[in-house]
Amino acid sequence: MSELEIIRDSVREFVESKIAPSAPIIDRDDEYPREVIRELGRHGYLVPNDVYDLRTLYEVEKEVAKVSGSVALLIDVQAALFYAPVKKHSSFDLSKIVSGDEIGAFALSEPGGGSDATNLKTKAEEKDGGYVINGKKMWITQGMYADLYLVSARTGGPGAKGISAFLVKYDECIKRRKIEVMGCRGTGTAELTFENCWVPKESRIGGWEVPRYGLKIGRLAIAGIAVGLALGSLKEAQDWMKSRTAFSKTLSEMQGLQWYIADSITEVKAADSLAVEASQKFDEEEGDVVVPMAKIFSALVANRVIDRAVQILGGIGYAKGSLSERAYRDARLLRIGEGTDEVERNLIWSRINQVKL
Ligand SMILES: Cc1cc2nc3c(=O)[nH]c(=O)nc-3n(C[C@H](O)[C@H](O)[C@H](O)COP(=O)(O)OP(=O)(O)OC[C@H]3O[C@@H](n4cnc5c(N)ncnc54)[C@H](O)[C@@H]3O)c2cc1C
Repeated sequence: MSELEIIRDSVREFVESKIAPSAPIIDRDDEYPREVIRELGRHGYLVPNDVYDLRTLYEVEKEVAKVSGSVALLIDVQAALFYAPVKKHSSFDLSKIVSGDEIGAFALSEPGGGSDATNLKTKAEEKDGGYVINGKKMWITQGMYADLYLVSARTGGPGAKGISAFLVKYDECIKRRKIEVMGCRGTGTAELTFENCWVPKESRIGGWEVPRYGLKIGRLAIAGIAVGLALGSLKEAQDWMKSRTAFSKTLSEMQGLQWYIADSITEVKAADSLAVEASQKFDEEEGDVVVPMAKIFSALVANRVIDRAVQILGGIGYAKGSLSERAYRDARLLRIGEGTDEVERNLIWSRINQVKL
């Protein structure tokens, strides 16, 4: 058994016993799963393999998303969007982020726009040997509960060059307002208002390269969430086809539905292969184009596959309580967060010559 298979098996066991039972409740009550985060941390799954090995992160996301898009999204934020860029660009002690005793959030998007991120308006002005941050951040996952924020703010002129990344501890100068969302519920989505937040000079850990690096790893994590969500609802649909009868035969015997499953499994397999390739080529020049390809493709596949699963499940698929109903809502975020479909296409187009075929 390879090391990857061993990790995958142990994550699977953990997911079944610790996440699957609470996943519907996290969604129904929109409840932030603080204890699940700690458990993930204790087992080393919150920041898998120190995010050094991206394939492991991808596989963990896949396994977790089979039962909960919400918990998988929290791993994405903690490990990919927060831990990885902060670790790369600072010597800050992140042991409590790894253990789940502290929560990290990635504060880039603003009310004025998320896609046009390098046009952000939040300001950090030099004052008293540090910086004073003022501005608003929008849609920040686990923003309601974070102890630390990776905040992108403007310290210079327009565009990416004028952006700095700050590590900011939660303080009363940060006002948090909860935002209710359609899917991936229980993830503490927040609007943040920074009102004269003074931070020491050392809080500035770099420029635009910091959030950009987090987003690149985050896109791979999203691919894992997409493939996992698709596999979870594909299994639910296949199980249903075996037990449900209509016109004196099981749904499994109906060719039209068999074709849905055949199409779905083919698309998931292709999405998985592209994402694995993206994890392997992450640091190569081609990685800059394969990662957005994996992100957009897997997100679109997940939405199609889950839509077919809902169709196969009929009324059950539309009703609260089915995994596919929840996955349907969770998966929709994957076409918006960490670069919309359109932004990913722009990234692919801008690096089209780097594609090796
Ligand atoms: C549940 C949730 C969690 C999130 N978590 C975080 C988080 O933790 N941290 C964070 O910083 N952000 C987070 N986001 C924000 C997310 O990254 C943004 O919503 C996303 O980048 C899109 O930005 P926007 O919503 O402002 O849409 P806009 O940027 O206003 O885009 C609106 C539409 O216009 C399209 N569009 C924009 N520009 C172009 C273009 N050049 N060409 C073609 N079409 C274009 C977009 O693709 C989209 O369809 C989260 C969002 C949600 C919904």
